[in-house]
Amino acid sequence: MSSSSFESVDCVVIGAGVVGLAVARALALAGREVIVVEAAEGIGTETSSRNSEVIHAGIYYPRGSLMARTCVAGRHLLYTYCAEHGVPHRNCGKLIVATNDDESARLVEIKGRAEVNGVEGMRLLSAAEAMTMEPNLHCTAALLSPRTGIVDSHSYMLALQGDAEAHGAMLAFHSPVMQGRAVDGGIELEVGGAEPMNLRCRLVVNSAGLHAPALARKIAGLPSDRIPSAYYAKGNYFTLTGSSPFSRLIYPVPVPGGLGVHITIDMGGQAKFGPDVEWIDGIDYAVDPRRADKFYAAVRRYWPELKDGTLQPGYAGIRPKIVPPGAPAQDFTVQGQADHSVAGLINLFGIESPGLTASLALAELVRDIARP
Ligand SMILES: Cc1cc2nc3c(=O)[nH]c(=O)nc-3n(C[C@H](O)[C@H](O)[C@H](O)COP(=O)(O)OP(=O)(O)OC[C@H]3O[C@@H](n4cnc5c(N)ncnc54)[C@H](O)[C@@H]3O)c2cc1C
Repeated sequence: MSSSSFESVDCVVIGAGVVGLAVARALALAGREVIVVEAAEGIGTETSSRNSEVIHAGIYYPRGSLMARTCVAGRHLLYTYCAEHGVPHRNCGKLIVATNDDESARLVEIKGRAEVNGVEGMRLLSAAEAMTMEPNLHCTAALLSPRTGIVDSHSYMLALQGDAEAHGAMLAFHSPVMQGRAVDGGIELEVGGAEPMNLRCRLVVNSAGLHAPALARKIAGLPSDRIPSAYYAKGNYFTLTGSSPFSRLIYPVPVPGGLGVHITIDMGGQAKFGPDVEWIDGIDYAVDPRRADKFYAAVRRYWPELKDGTLQPGYAGIRPKIVPPGAPAQDFTVQGQADHSVAGLINLFGIESPGLTASLALAELVRDIARP
């Protein structure tokens, strides 16, 4: 690559998932020139289309964490954005349900943590109150989260793309970033695919999801001790034949690594169960039908009437973890120059749940860190 073959650009966002698109939109709205380079053929083909599509209230995350702050702020922004842009969504609420006395006691802790995080309207319910709201439910107590909702994530991403493009951003598909290096005044990137490009960028945002750590390792000049290892925690879903037995989302008390096998409903009214937690070594989205046994057992704790043979393998998503199984949960990691000493590079690592909910708030954070 001779230096004359580089095209100069202000900002390049790597990855057109929900977070990359939200970042591109925020930068474009701030008046910056933006190109989004995406390896796949379209937007949101990885984790952003393999999740629960829940607008999280911000309940479980540690006080002051980036997850807590961006989830609560992002939720407010997302509800407003969806209403203003005609993105299908529903503020349906959720119940966290206890099925024994130990779990009932945990609900009080969870409510306290939610309130510290700024989640409004959380209310403890007796078993009778909860089962009046949801007659198919079996529980010993419940916690109502009225601010939780659901969103059509693909429509949301299309709206972000449209908004970003309307403000001058360009999207290049089939454009995998192969490598890069830190240079004076920014980052040089080599982009492969059908129409290879060499870009000299003032700002690069690495929003490559599951691949963000591997991609960071290919950027010469970035200190390797600032790059986390990638771990994959797959979440499998099973769908229910027939109509949903509940009108709200139903969650058990959380388990290590995930939120437990819960029931969510999509905008089309389809009920799905999951995600579970399965640590894997490589990317593999196949759902093993034999895992259904564990789902029946987990779901029957709070919905005993679940009939044999009604769960079908659905789909799977993979949580982009940056800590191994058993390690304490890791916060979202947004690294700028202050963290890794490379000018013009922002890395987004470990953007697992609630990344969809938090996307607009994460985008504002990146825009502000990147302010020239
Ligand atoms: C099972 C599961 C359930 C979840 N449920 C929820 C939920 O209900 N609510 C919620 O708020 N959040 C949820 N999340 C989290 C949410 O889905 C993610 O935080 C979010 O989708 C991450 O978006 P992203 O843009 O960072 O990553 P991605 O969507 O993975 O996008 C990354 C993009 O980068 C591209 N890319 C990778 N490498 C390169 C390269 N070298 N060059 C160019 N492009 C590249 C990929 O092709 C991809 O399109 C869930 C996650 C999982 C796994």
